[in-house]
Amino acid sequence: MNFLKNILHKVLKGNTIVEKQKISDVVYWIRVKNENIKNIEFVPGYFLRVGIGLTKESLTMKDFVRSYSVWNIDKTNGTLDLAIATQSNGSGAKWVEQRQIGDNVYFSWKKGNFILDESADSYLMIGDLSALSHLYIICRNLSKNKQVESIIYSQHIKELFTDIDGTNPFNFFELPQNPINEIISKVKEIVPKMNGKKIVYIGGDSRICVALNKYFKQELNWNPKQIKTKPFWNPDKKGLE
Ligand SMILES: Cc1cc2nc3c(=O)[nH]c(=O)nc-3n(C[C@H](O)[C@H](O)[C@H](O)COP(=O)(O)OP(=O)(O)OC[C@H]3O[C@@H](n4cnc5c(N)ncnc54)[C@H](O)[C@@H]3O)c2cc1C
Repeated sequence: MNFLKNILHKVLKGNTIVEKQKISDVVYWIRVKNENIKNIEFVPGYFLRVGIGLTKESLTMKDFVRSYSVWNIDKTNGTLDLAIATQSNGSGAKWVEQRQIGDNVYFSWKKGNFILDESADSYLMIGDLSALSHLYIICRNLSKNKQVESIIYSQHIKELFTDIDGTNPFNFFELPQNPINEIISKVKEIVPKMNGKKIVYIGGDSRICVALNKYFKQELNWNPKQIKTKPFWNPDKKGLE
């Protein structure tokens, strides 16, 4: 393990935490700075594989890495922002709770397909606390003429936070865990109001991603290209990706 850590320390660039704040009861915002961030070719929706095991000793391989979405990037100043939820109480949650300004963060970039797609006229954003920063950056980068609808939920509404610029473009709902029936009844109200070509982004709880993917395909007959899903966590697993 130490051998692996030494290699990763060399491969992954050290980035410094320059800001840290608790932005809701269970969410931390951290801002990370590094010269390399100035040169990244970035598309909203890219995320980081953070080597939490490199700054926290005694973690097993299963807990070594966690994925976090880039909430905002400032290429002029070489900074990026993450919003990390802690209600999982796992190693990622403990890692962010313990981090301090001046600490190093080690990460690699991941691109994936859950990224900005400007090809539609109207968008529906569905997700929980873990996916909120990801949905914010996509929404913020859509052209102003796009219609945006949303179902953002958490078990306690005060856990949800506003976007990094202080705006709140989304509708927040207080719902229990895995609220598939409640979400589907809201989808039924929203979809008829969506104009032109439509895209749905679904992120967060894997159970919701699977059930809604099926619903949009089979019940609403949407083309798979219109349905963008990304499971961020699974009740039976630790970490994902
Ligand atoms: C592409 C991608 C991007 C992601 N971006 C973000 C992000 O920007 N911010 C963020 O907070 N997370 C994000 N996640 C989730 C993150 O990677 C971790 O899975 C999450 O933080 C839990 O890690 P942990 O080590 O704290 O808990 P784990 O050890 O992984 O899990 C402990 C327990 O908590 C449960 N659990 C995990 N997450 C939740 C949750 N949200 N609510 C309730 N129970 C949960 C697990 O099922 C498990 O039972 C992302 C995941 C992916 C795949």
